[in-house]
Parts: sequence; structure tokens; C-alpha cells
Amino acid sequence: MAHDHPTVLVVEDEPAQREVLSYNLQSEGFEVVSAADGDEALLLVQEVMPDIIVLDWMLPGISGIEICRRLKTKPQTSGIPVIMLSARSEEVDRVRGLETGADDYVVKPYSVLELMARVRNQLRRVRPASVGQRLTYEDIVLDAETHRVTRSDSALKLGPTEFRLLSTFMEKPGRVWSREQLLDRVWGRDIYVDSRTVDVHIGRLRKALCLHGGDDPLRTVRGAGYALG
Ligand code: CA
Repeated sequence: MAHDHPTVLVVEDEPAQREVLSYNLQSEGFEVVSAADGDEALLLVQEVMPDIIVLDWMLPGISGIEICRRLKTKPQTSGIPVIMLSARSEEVDRVRGLETGADDYVVKPYSVLELMARVRNQLRRVRPASVGQRLTYEDIVLDAETHRVTRSDSALKLGPTEFRLLSTFMEKPGRVWSREQLLDRVWGRDIYVDSRTVDVHIGRLRKALCLHGGDDPLRTVRGAGYALG
């Protein structure tokens, strides 16, 4: 399973609500994993590193607030957007929810359409290519919806793997990605691929990007990995 589709973790103890949410998110093209309580949720976060978490506040055992606080204090998970769901609409709760680091807060009963919009909104921030955005880096333009890439207005031909690599780089220019991180993001966690495969595809991507001239925008960072710019 390559990560073309963002993975959403749904944490909700009420089975009917969990199913409705999962169903709607799947219909929107997301990969969905779900948990019924906090312990399961924390395990799943480590296991699948979701792109976003929809988290119920009131859970048996560890509360949603506590889960959120734990995730936001760990560097590996602090960047994952959390949308908190709560039946409690008081302003003070809303403030408390956001203070624990939740990125957004939705009051139950919520409209599924509104929640989907908020999920896309958060993903637009962290994974712009996954929600069909156009990404631009210097003279390179990547259209995630049509899968077209141009450089200085010339169309580039990229294979599917090179396309995913480039969109990963273009989502966070300047960020250094290790080979392992690229493997997880581009090939998926459940597939065994030799890390030298990454180098092969980076080579192809470089070749494609420079086919019509222009400098090589990809940087090899010795002992660390690769970065765009
Ligand atoms: Ca609940």
C-alpha cells in the first residue's frame, strides 16, 4: 500500500459513530484505521503513523485530551493534526481542547460534511499533494489532481514512483528525508524495499527534472538522505 491516500486514524468508542465516520472517510478516498479506546489508539499511532487523527474526547480509560497531550509532546507525533470531537460545547472546554494542542475542535452532533471539510483543511496544511493541490517550487509545478509536472512550462514525464517522490519533496521544500522515511512515505510501510532502491528512483527523478535543462534541485545530504533545495 503506497501512501497516495492519506491515512486517517479514527478514535471513537461508540461503534455506530465509528462506522459512520470510517465509511465516510473511506468514500472520500482516505485509508482509515480505527480504535475504540486510548490504549489501542496510542499503539496504532506508533504502528501506522497516520496523517491525521479524529479523536473523541470522552473515551473509556485514557481520555481524548490525555491522548492528544501525549502525542503533541512527542517530537515524532507532534506534527500529526488532531481534530477533537466532543459533546461538550462550553467555551471553556473548547479552549481546554485547543490548549492541549488539538488543531481543530468539532462539537457533537456534527455534520459529517463539515467534519470532512475540516479533515481536508488540516491535510491541506500537512500533505498538500494528497488533497489535489498544485504545488510549486521555483520553476517546477506539480498538479496533484491531474498528475502533471512541468518545469519552466515544459511537461516532464515521471513514473508513478518518481511522481510520489517529487510530491513528497515539494510538500516540504528544504526538509531532509532519510531513505527510510522516503520508503515509508512513497512505497508504504508494509512493503520490503531495499533502501538502495530509493537511490535508483532519486536518480531517475533527477534525470527527468533536468531533461530540458535547469539545475538539479535535489540535494544529497551525506549520511542523512535527500532534500529539495
Ligand atoms: Ca465517546
